[in-house]
Amino acid sequence: HQDQNSAGSYGQITLNDGSTLELWANVASTAEAAAARRLGATGIGLLRTEFFFLDQKTLPDEESQCQSLRQVMAPMQGLPIVVRALDAGADKPLSFIPIGTEANPALGRRGLRALLAYPDIFALQLRAMLRAGQDHDLHIMLPMVTNPEELRSARMILDQAHRELEAAGHPHRWPVPFGIMAEVPAVALCMKQFNGLTDFVSIGSNDLTQYTLASDRSNALLQTLGNAAHPAVLELCRKMVQDSHAPVSICGEAAGDPQIAPLLVDCGIRRLSMAPPRLSNMYTRVSGT
Ligand code: PEP
Ligand code: MG
Repeated sequence: HQDQNSAGSYGQITLNDGSTLELWANVASTAEAAAARRLGATGIGLLRTEFFFLDQKTLPDEESQCQSLRQVMAPMQGLPIVVRALDAGADKPLSFIPIGTEANPALGRRGLRALLAYPDIFALQLRAMLRAGQDHDLHIMLPMVTNPEELRSARMILDQAHRELEAAGHPHRWPVPFGIMAEVPAVALCMKQFNGLTDFVSIGSNDLTQYTLASDRSNALLQTLGNAAHPAVLELCRKMVQDSHAPVSICGEAAGDPQIAPLLVDCGIRRLSMAPPRLSNMYTRVSGT
């Protein structure tokens, strides 16, 4: 254990086995990104973009999306930033992505499924990300991936976004690591199929727990059942670390839970991404300082 900590530097812990545990931050605002910087987070492991859109009636244009992203990323200049494409649908409905009525929204057209159903909205957001990330270590992440074919389709739209920006003479970040969230059990079980296709993997334990245990994450009466420390969820995490050639991190709530985080570390995970207020407590609990 590392026993010396400079003030406000909670981003890295040397474990007893000599490996480094990295603490990253989940953010959705400039204030949270500034807190992440102050606390010494290794990077932003999850920048949730849907919060920019929730109170909008119409789709914000490329320029305004670009400005919003620039503002949130600014405090973390120089550090890796993982921006997640819109995760609309289910618990995060957006009026300008008309999914329609679904009997089971959590099993419906949400996340990447919705983006592939509305490729123009997806492409517009990707262009805004590439432009806003021009001077950043930008990574782009896809929510609710199920099959490698979806990732291939998304990559074609990303490549197209790059070509369009190039043709229009807009400076932008390129190339950009392109990764997936692992929140559908099928992805965990078939992780090997994503080798060579994805640049990184980030476990969305909130949804992975919901889908593995058939336990609605929004149902308060099922909170005890829907626990990421369930052996089935941990087994999937361990399997992903073993099977993935790309780095595996976790950005669900479990990553910031001092009871569960050690179990995730036991599974081989060395990147935990959590809300900034949890960083110092996690650092103290794991490093013992
Ligand atoms: C998750 O599912 O664990 C996750 C990080 O994404 P969200 O909570 O936004 O669905
Ligand atoms: Mg999720």
